[in-house]
Amino acid sequence: MSGKTRQFPLSLASLGNKASRTVQAKTVAVQKTATPQTATQNAAQYGARALPQSPSRIIPVVRPVHGSSDSDRAMPMVSEAVRKAMVARIAKQGVKDTKVLAAMEAIPRHFFLEPALASQAYIDASLPIGHHQTISQPYIVARMIEVMRHNKQGGVLNNVLEIGTGCGYQAAVLSLLAKEVYSIERIKPLHELAKANLRPLRIPNIRLHYGDGMLGFSKVAPFDGIILAAAGLEVPQALLDQLTIGGRLVAPVGGRHQILQLIERVGKYEWSASTLEDCHFVPLRPGTVG
Ligand code: SAH
Repeated sequence: MSGKTRQFPLSLASLGNKASRTVQAKTVAVQKTATPQTATQNAAQYGARALPQSPSRIIPVVRPVHGSSDSDRAMPMVSEAVRKAMVARIAKQGVKDTKVLAAMEAIPRHFFLEPALASQAYIDASLPIGHHQTISQPYIVARMIEVMRHNKQGGVLNNVLEIGTGCGYQAAVLSLLAKEVYSIERIKPLHELAKANLRPLRIPNIRLHYGDGMLGFSKVAPFDGIILAAAGLEVPQALLDQLTIGGRLVAPVGGRHQILQLIERVGKYEWSASTLEDCHFVPLRPGTVG
């Protein structure tokens, strides 16, 4: 981790152990194509086979301090073992950064889904979160963060910006790997949902903003990492301008066919781009929805 160990009300023992390991600089391998998915396809494909039965160990359920209906979102039957299995699959798909894998293991993804979908939280699929948006597929969340961390600072990230908070899951994962995380969402009810999801976790270093992320966040720029969780036909120049020199932006780019792109700022007026793999994200849209 780039800073001090984060404290949560939930047991993060697994993260603590792994985070203290030294992470070697990793070669960012060019991945084979990830299967494009939609929430509908995922639900159809995975709906019938949810989590393995008989979880071996029950994780402590995160509950809001002053009990509210939010506690309904917690799913007490999810075992740490199921999340570990998800992380093992992500590693098998090629994500090697142990800090990223540890962060994925520490964040309870089921907590970011409505109860009806919580049993599917640990399959490798995007799932609906309302307003025609999705929580991203776990593999791609891990992959994007791994690529962003593979910088010349040995993975140190101070200011990170996420465009497309959605339900807040990726922001939570990022909070374990960056000093400050800023995340922007254009759909007000999703911004509120993310706030509600994250509040009980009491993560001190996430700032959520309601607005158009295509404009970036000039007030707190520059960022040494920017992640877009929605695909535009191109990456907005405002975001490129808000990268530090040496900073890395990872974004899906395209329409029906999308590719994951890494853009590194190499000089004041110079950026270098590389293409990583196929992907499938919801579209990046301008403006806000109240
Ligand atoms: N980060 C989420 C993924 C959310 S899906 C996760 O953890 O799974 C992508 C989100 O991007 C949607 O909620 C969508 O509303 C949002 N989005 C699209 N265009 C945007 C824009 N210009 N500014 C901010 N958010 C945007």
